[in-house]
Amino acid sequence: MNKQFDIGVESLNGDTVAQPESRQAPLPLPLRGGLRNNSREQAADAGAGATGKSFFIETFGCQMNDHDSEKVAGVLQGRGYRAVGTPSQADLVLYNTCSIREKAAQKVFARLGDWKTLADGKIIGVLGCLAQQEGEEIFERAPWVSLVCGSASYRKLPDLIDQLESGGRRVTGLDLDTDETFETDITRRDRLLSAYITIIEGCDYSCAYCVVPHTRGPERSRPSEAVLAEARRLADVGYTEIQLLGQTVNSYRDPGPRGWRFVDLLRAVADVPGIRRVRFTTSHPNDFTREIVEAIETVPALCNHVHLPVQSGSSRVLQAMRRTYTREEYLEKIGWMREASRDISITSDIIIGFPGETAEDFEGSLSLLDAAQYDAIFSFKYSPRPNTSAKDMPDAIPEEEKSRRLAILNERQRQIQTARYEKLVGSTFEVHTDAHHPARGVWGGRTSCNRLVNFSTTRESLLGQYVQVKISRASANALFGEQVE
Ligand code: SF4
Repeated sequence: MNKQFDIGVESLNGDTVAQPESRQAPLPLPLRGGLRNNSREQAADAGAGATGKSFFIETFGCQMNDHDSEKVAGVLQGRGYRAVGTPSQADLVLYNTCSIREKAAQKVFARLGDWKTLADGKIIGVLGCLAQQEGEEIFERAPWVSLVCGSASYRKLPDLIDQLESGGRRVTGLDLDTDETFETDITRRDRLLSAYITIIEGCDYSCAYCVVPHTRGPERSRPSEAVLAEARRLADVGYTEIQLLGQTVNSYRDPGPRGWRFVDLLRAVADVPGIRRVRFTTSHPNDFTREIVEAIETVPALCNHVHLPVQSGSSRVLQAMRRTYTREEYLEKIGWMREASRDISITSDIIIGFPGETAEDFEGSLSLLDAAQYDAIFSFKYSPRPNTSAKDMPDAIPEEEKSRRLAILNERQRQIQTARYEKLVGSTFEVHTDAHHPARGVWGGRTSCNRLVNFSTTRESLLGQYVQVKISRASANALFGEQVE
C-alpha cells in the first residue's frame, strides 16, 4: 500500500461567501496548534521546495476539480516543488479547468492569453476537463502551453513532469480508456475543517447535455479499503468532517473483495472513530435507494442533506436529456426522504431552456419545485457543449426566453426557501463552526443538513468546534441565532 500523507492548509479567511468561479490554491500557512498530527505534516513538508522549483495552480469548476488540485499539489510537493501565491512567482503554472459551460472555458483561454508574451522560462499547463475536451488544439491556440492533461490521465503526471523537466516541449496525457483512479502518495489539504475523499471517478451515464463522460472517462470506483484507510488517516490528523465525492457518487461499486455498494461504504466511513460528519455529493436519482435514506435515518454521523439533481420537472424533457428516470420516479424518491424520521434537506440542479422545452415543460419544473420543497437549487441556462449529443438538437430556446424562465424559476425557489427557513426560527441546531467575521462579531458554520448559520457568542475561539445555536431569524439563504451552550 502507498504511504500517504496529508498536508493541512489554513485556508479560512473569515468569510463564508458564494464560491467564485475559479479558486487559487492558498499557500501553506502555519497550522493551528493541536488540530493536526504534526509528524505527518513535517514528513510531507520536508520535500517541498527541495528542488528550488515553484508552482501555482488555479482551479475552475466543481469540488471534484478542487480535490484533484489538492492531489496534483501533493504530487508536486512530493517532488520538491514549493507552492507560491501568484503565477508570476511560479516556475510551473497550472490551470485545472472546467468545460461544463462555455463561459468557464472562455475564462481559461483568457488566462492562457495573459501568458502570450510573458511565458518565457515558465512551464504553463492545462489540466482537467478543458484539457481533455480541446486536447492538442490548446497548443494551436496557445503555443506557449507545454502540458495538456485530462483528469483520467492524472496518474501519469509524474512521468509528464519528468519529460518536461528533461526538456520536453509539449507533453500530453489524454487517455480516456482507463480503469485506474488517481491515487497519490501525498494530498495537500486546502480545507481546514472538512476533507474531500474521491470514491468514484468518471461516469457511465450519457446525459445529452453533459461533457463529463467525454472529459473524465468511464466510471471507476476506488477499493473500499483505500477509501477507509484515507478516512482513518484524516481522522488521525484531526479532521472530523469528510465529504465523499464522485460525479455519480452513489453509483459506487467496490472493486475489492467486499463488493460493497455505496450505502455499505457510507456506513463504514461514518463508523471511523473521530469522524463526526459524513457528506456525499453528487447523487444520481437512478441509483438513489431507500437504503441510503435508512442509513441517514439511523446513523447520526451521516449528514441529513442530499443533493439530488433533477434537471427538469418534465418527463418529456428528462427523456430527451437521457436522464433515465421520470418526474414521477424522481418525486417518489423525494417522498422517501420527506417521510424519514430525520429532517432531510434536499438540494438540486435544474437546467432551463433545454432544446425543445415548451412553456408546459417549464411549468413542470416550477411545479416540481413546489412538490420537492428544496432547501436550495443551482439553476442554469442550457448552453450547447462540444462532444455532447444535445449540441445539434433542433428547437433551441432563445437566450432572452431562457433568461426570463430562469428569473421566474429562481423567484419561485426564493419564496419556497424563505418559507422553509422561516419555519426553523426557534429551533436549535448543532453547527460546525468554519468562519469568523471579526468586524461584525459573528461566527458562521453549517448544520448537518448544510444550512448556513451565522451566530453570536460570548466565546472567543470557536473555529472547528461543534456548538448548539438557537435560531432567532431567517433569510432565504441563511439562519441567524445565538450560541446556547
Ligand atoms: S450523470 Fe449525466 S450529468 Fe452527471 S456526470 Fe454523468 S453524464 Fe454528466
